[in-house]
Amino acid sequence: MDYASSLLGLLPGARRTPGLKELLASVAAYLPADQVERIREAAEFGTSAHHGQRRRSGEPFIAHPVAAATLLADLHLDADTIIAAILHDVIEDTRTPKDQLAARFGADVAELVDGVTKLDQIKFKSREEAQAESFRKMLLAMVKDLRVILVKLADRTHNMRTIEAMAPARRRAIARETLEIYAPIAERLGLYNMKIELEDLGFKALYPARYLVLERAQKRARGNQKEFLKKIEQQLNTALIRSQIEARVVTREKHLYSIYQKMRRKRAPLHEIVDVYGIRIVVDTPDTCYRALGVVHSVFKPMPGRFKDYIAIPRVNGYQSLHTTLFGPNGVPIEAQIRTTDMHRVAETGIAAHWKYKTGGKSDVGQQDRTREWLSNLVSLQESGSSEEFLESVKVDLFPDKVYVFTPKGTILRLPSGATVVDFAYAVHTDIGNRCVAAKVDRRLTPLRTVLRNGQTVEIITAKGATPNPSWVNFVATAKARSAIRHYLKGLRRTEAIALGAKLLTQALGEFSLSFEDVSDSVKRAALGELGMKDLDELHEKIGLGERLAPLVARRLLPTATHASGTSVLAPLAIAGTEGLLVTYARCCFPIPYDPIFAFLSSGRGVVIHRENCVNVEDYRKHPENWLPVTWQASPDRLFSSELRVYVINRTGVLAAVAAAIASTETNIDHVSIDEQDIDTAVLTFELRVRDRRHLARLVRVIRRMPDVNRVTRTIAAHARDAEPDGDPDPRG
Ligand code: MN
Repeated sequence: MDYASSLLGLLPGARRTPGLKELLASVAAYLPADQVERIREAAEFGTSAHHGQRRRSGEPFIAHPVAAATLLADLHLDADTIIAAILHDVIEDTRTPKDQLAARFGADVAELVDGVTKLDQIKFKSREEAQAESFRKMLLAMVKDLRVILVKLADRTHNMRTIEAMAPARRRAIARETLEIYAPIAERLGLYNMKIELEDLGFKALYPARYLVLERAQKRARGNQKEFLKKIEQQLNTALIRSQIEARVVTREKHLYSIYQKMRRKRAPLHEIVDVYGIRIVVDTPDTCYRALGVVHSVFKPMPGRFKDYIAIPRVNGYQSLHTTLFGPNGVPIEAQIRTTDMHRVAETGIAAHWKYKTGGKSDVGQQDRTREWLSNLVSLQESGSSEEFLESVKVDLFPDKVYVFTPKGTILRLPSGATVVDFAYAVHTDIGNRCVAAKVDRRLTPLRTVLRNGQTVEIITAKGATPNPSWVNFVATAKARSAIRHYLKGLRRTEAIALGAKLLTQALGEFSLSFEDVSDSVKRAALGELGMKDLDELHEKIGLGERLAPLVARRLLPTATHASGTSVLAPLAIAGTEGLLVTYARCCFPIPYDPIFAFLSSGRGVVIHRENCVNVEDYRKHPENWLPVTWQASPDRLFSSELRVYVINRTGVLAAVAAAIASTETNIDHVSIDEQDIDTAVLTFELRVRDRRHLARLVRVIRRMPDVNRVTRTIAAHARDAEPDGDPDPRG
């Protein structure tokens, strides 16, 4: 420490930076001189940046970050972490740009400070337990570098030490957040001492009266315990020495918050809990732990069912020890922990033990590697035990494949990473998902396909009557959203099927000069029963899907007397092109409005429209019961696919010329293919979008006038043959 004091003598800054002397002394004990100098520079930088700012207690602001840094120096953390702790408030409180920190102290420090700033911007609201767990996970998921959490915990610990200066309401809020969020995180990371301090400070600030009662009771008990514990300690020491086991036996005290929790959990009176004694035995190797256990059990009888082997099966955070409870003198229970020196170090400082500054070789390992190293150590520790549980919890916490976002009311939702605004909407409620039309993320309007990031607040805007967009299926990340959208589309299909089926049945009944209302209820019921349908909707749906034939169903609905022979011809069904999913246009013959057409009822696919001269018609002739006469209704704006085959002289540029001619008639081309027949001729096949036969005829005339074009035909049936005569298609068929 001579080095540190001599350094301080040269530093004018040290005097106006309270706590700096202690910090530098602490880091000089384990860091090389150049790193100590960087830390000193950071303190100087921070002192200037925070110049004039004071804490509520009245002391200069810089005292706070320096104290936080000192906490981390006690854990022997590396210089970047210490510097980040010194500067942790400069981005937020002094508007120092991140770039400036990077230029001055390196990118790592800048990233760490930025990470702490981002954590501070997220506000914890709810008091529900599940919410607290999500919030903890969100905080952990947000940081790429665990050192950010270490700085944050040091920051919080110092704030808790000085919380007396805060107004009571603020004090309670901070205390609650400390107990619900930060102490459990410290525990998860194995920072046992920090956890205990955060809990006791939080307990004291949140319930000052209860804290006082427990503190007094503990003090009283301690007076009585002293002699008693000394005797136990001696008995154990003697026995261990006799067995030639080198061990350190220490008595330990439960911290107040754990006593308080135990009282609440077990509804036990104070004395029962305070009068539990604790001892710890630290030895050199794991093997010695078990031997020491045997010795301990030979001195005091163990309480059955209380032995736990956390050496063979470590806790999730890497904690290892043997735990046993003994019947002490007069039957007083003694809780004993047995562990090695290494295990003790991990038990006290957890992950920080792993971040310790290491001299030589390994000091330049990247932070990601160190985290991985820590994890792999834990994994190997866990091999014998419940590794699944362990991996689950560590993966969720440290390798974020989840994203945590807020609703406008502050509830946290956990979604898989990659989740979009639409996933969020469905996670809130299926109805919200189905009716969402827009969203605000952090109060800014955002497209629905936007991928969400940790900590964002998402507000969904819904509209009455809005429906899911089928294209959402392409970008949603959650099964819930995907299945809800599919379910909706299926429902839509069903609605369309029912409507089409009703139309077909009405048409079929019309052939017998009957309307549905004319059919008596008993006949309807009987027919439904015969057909095995539970209601009329189901019947309509089946007809619409082509699983039942409208003419046959219609016949069943006729009064017995008019049961006709079935020779009548049905009036054609009008097709307008707006029927939706249940009417499809065959891609073998590409029917367009005013083509002579007929329809074929296809099971499960509804009605398929073909041109009358389609080659496939021959196959369908074998199933006359599935035919349906149809005509075109005055067509709306809808465009229909059609296919033209253009026989050309095989010349460079001919395709471009024909395509340009087609475009000149304001026709869209969906697809083109070229089939070179020989060196002189080729066939160009265009799939086009046209309104009707008139539109197509105009197009054919334009193409045919071109010099290199020999012939133009419409495709009929899978390119099998050119059935149509080589003339203008007649617009009216
Ligand atoms: Mn702070």
